[in-house]
Amino acid sequence: WRQSIDERAQEVASLDDALLKERAVDLQDVGHRVLRLLADTLEEEPGTFTMPVILVAEDLSPSDTARLDPAMILGICTAGGGPTSHTAIIARSLDIPAIVGAGPAVLHQPEDSLCILDGDAGNLYLEPGDGDLHLAHQVQQQWQALREAERLACYQPAITTDGQRIEVVANIGGASEAEQAVAAGAEGIGLLRSEFLFLQRAEPPSEDEQFIAYSAMTRALNGLPLIIRTLDIGGDKEVPYLSLPAEDNPFLGVRGIRLCLARSDLFRPQLRAIYRAAATGPVKIMFPMIATVEELRAARAIAEEVRVELGAAVVDIGIMIEVPSAVLMAPELAAHADFFSVGTNDLTQYVLAMDRGHPSLARQADALHPAVLRMIDMTVKAATAAGRWVGVCGGMAGEPKGAMILAGLGVAELSMSIPSVAAIKSRLRAQSLVDMQALAKRALACQSAAEVRAL
Ligand code: PEP
Ligand code: MG
Repeated sequence: WRQSIDERAQEVASLDDALLKERAVDLQDVGHRVLRLLADTLEEEPGTFTMPVILVAEDLSPSDTARLDPAMILGICTAGGGPTSHTAIIARSLDIPAIVGAGPAVLHQPEDSLCILDGDAGNLYLEPGDGDLHLAHQVQQQWQALREAERLACYQPAITTDGQRIEVVANIGGASEAEQAVAAGAEGIGLLRSEFLFLQRAEPPSEDEQFIAYSAMTRALNGLPLIIRTLDIGGDKEVPYLSLPAEDNPFLGVRGIRLCLARSDLFRPQLRAIYRAAATGPVKIMFPMIATVEELRAARAIAEEVRVELGAAVVDIGIMIEVPSAVLMAPELAAHADFFSVGTNDLTQYVLAMDRGHPSLARQADALHPAVLRMIDMTVKAATAAGRWVGVCGGMAGEPKGAMILAGLGVAELSMSIPSVAAIKSRLRAQSLVDMQALAKRALACQSAAEVRAL
């Protein structure tokens, strides 16, 4: 089995098409999972290390990353992938320092060699000397002291020095994370990636199972808001048991709301579970990947049918702004949506036409690119004119530079991975809105992401 899978994966990896090439990792992933079932144990299974290590790999699948034990994995460095791939998103939520897209050279290190991984700067230092190690330990201690100070202040709201409050909420993927989010200082959940409840299993969770999961979250949140994004399957999030047809361009294919509209057997039970859970706490619904007004109207109509069937109360319905057409149609979409949340991970890849998981392009697919910032600016202006609020739940919201520019652009709510909450709140408390507005204005006028970062 292993030999055949390896051979096939090598064949796929040697294809010219970059997108197909990347599927080699998926093939290996499936191969390993089958192997795990065939064999009782498998030494190489990620997460079964006997001592803490930095894991260096060609690439990791989202499901492998989700299984990693943060106590044993000090850091991750992958040759492929991009910073907004779902593998990187999961690593961030597990608080594992990671470097992705480092190129194949990193794979040539001897297995037991020593290295220093700096996830903030994206640097891997090979064969460090004693002086380097000493310095790294010092930096680590300073960093831990800073994080501890931020943690102690994590329940204080993010109010700027001139009195503007920015809501800081968390992105989660499962029921247990709601409690962790509150403990980390999040003021609610700005994005539940509900599709994560559908991964790593053999069939979709039933309506009742989903209701139990969503209401466990409202219980843990104890009155704080919960935004449940309806299924965003497709792209780099595959759900094998759905047996969806392979697509040449999965990121441009039947994903997100398109799949929900095509599969009412998935969409309706989920909406029923959400409306039932809304009776247990403040829940909002959010549709992913909206590209047209028709999609939003169709999704809303189904939601309303489900609500009436159940006799449930009305809840706010918002949309993700991830597709350039949604930005351009924001004034029209605002008439049918109670709020917007910008998904900068997808918006960046669609604005710049650069696959977010592409090994060589992902580096350039930077959400701080002025083209993306201008899109967000347009979205905020259209929403404000229609009396709607705008949040951001892409990776940019959890990056200090990104968070400041977003606050300056008039974004009201920032949603991020749990480990970023305390740090972003403390950064925002140290700034004035006026300064951040000035920063945002300068950023909008830049010519490149590098120029924006240099500000
Ligand atoms: C995004 O695209 O920015 C987003 C938050 O959704 P996801 O990362 O799950 O695609
Ligand atoms: Mg997205």
